[in-house]
Amino acid sequence: MLDFVQLEADLDQEERLIRDTAREFVEEHVKPDIGEHFEEGTFPTELISEMGELGFYAPNLEGYGSPNVSETAYGLLMQELEAGDSGLRSMASVQGALVMYPIHAYGSEEQKEEWLPKLGQGEAVGCFGLTEPEHGSNPSGMETYAEADGDGYVLNGSKTWITNSPISDVAIVWARDRSSEDNPVRGFLVETDRDGVSTNKITEKLSLRASITGEIGLNNVHVPEENVLPGVSGMKGPLSCLTQARYGIAWGAIGAARDAFEEARQYAQDREQFGGPIGRFQLQQRKLAEMATQITLAQLLAYRLAELKERGDMQPHHVSLSKRNNVRMARDQTRVAREMLGGNGITTDYSPMRHMANMETVYTYEGTHDIHTLVLGEELTGIKAYQ
Ligand SMILES: Cc1cc2nc3c(=O)[nH]c(=O)nc-3n(C[C@H](O)[C@H](O)[C@H](O)COP(=O)(O)OP(=O)(O)OC[C@H]3O[C@@H](n4cnc5c(N)ncnc54)[C@H](O)[C@@H]3O)c2cc1C
Repeated sequence: MLDFVQLEADLDQEERLIRDTAREFVEEHVKPDIGEHFEEGTFPTELISEMGELGFYAPNLEGYGSPNVSETAYGLLMQELEAGDSGLRSMASVQGALVMYPIHAYGSEEQKEEWLPKLGQGEAVGCFGLTEPEHGSNPSGMETYAEADGDGYVLNGSKTWITNSPISDVAIVWARDRSSEDNPVRGFLVETDRDGVSTNKITEKLSLRASITGEIGLNNVHVPEENVLPGVSGMKGPLSCLTQARYGIAWGAIGAARDAFEEARQYAQDREQFGGPIGRFQLQQRKLAEMATQITLAQLLAYRLAELKERGDMQPHHVSLSKRNNVRMARDQTRVAREMLGGNGITTDYSPMRHMANMETVYTYEGTHDIHTLVLGEELTGIKAYQ
């Protein structure tokens, strides 16, 4: 596997073990069937509990069954899962960073005890409902609302593009609390079997096909007071979760690019044209050299981000720069890998075009490339260019 400047030489024993476990899992359980799942538009749901048993959901959290591994170990895990497929990494990212993290950071003791062990083991599946049909890049414009009602709240509204919603047991729904002054955004734990909840599947996707995406409809859904996340109010709630998930994406995208690179490197050695392997042509070598360079630069950035996160110095703009750069890199380089495979490159028999198609989603979700550009612009100039 490409590790050109020997970054993995400095891994500790636990980090190596996690990398190797995830790599082996992907080789044995994901790669054989993932092309078929992509074609069919299905997710290998039988792997959900296995991934839980292997500790793939939020192992960087502490307590409630989570071992609190290093941020590098967590990043390596995301990298290996996305080398399998972005759908697989999305499953683990949503479950860990977008569902377990907010419960861990902002939940009551009862909520933590009830949900974290189940979610960590993959015995329950969660989803994160922020995006709405009319509010994607501008989630603070959300229209979903909650109103106090007796011993709890009644929720109304709709969320869309929600990873895992059709297979979820619980959704973290972000909604405006109309019963409080200034209508702050608050997080609600909504069990999907409550009356008034619907989770239709979105089927027309041409990207992230091996992932289940859906809507969340909320029609007069009653939740008790104890389902509100008590520890946070305002957009800080969902945005802090996105920072966690984007950290995983900055690592994960490298895995997709690396897998496409390895496939192209092998193909360049095996495929013969004009009496010898295509890898002997300078044009093909140049492509491999550029891919290896770009992947290595992205890895260096990810390792530095892990150091900052580990010591508590990681800021949202660090994550924006890393997510923006590494996903763009993966989007560009998976296309070069696809090109090197000629006609075979457009099939699901090889990974590059599947990764390339997935990158359209990864480039778009958790803040589009444009939005992260504006975050960086604001950081660099002090001037907001969103509106
Ligand atoms: C497969 C998939 C899974 C997803 N999973 C989840 C999930 O689990 N939970 C969840 O809450 N959401 C999820 N999303 C939603 C995702 O986060 C949004 O699609 C994303 O934030 C963009 O919002 P939008 O699609 O409404 O695009 P829009 O916000 O409408 O943007 C359209 C275009 O306009 C550009 N744009 C917008 N505002 C500006 C601006 N101020 N300046 C310049 N350009 C701008 C954007 O960059 C984009 O190119 C998922 C999306 C996909 C595709």
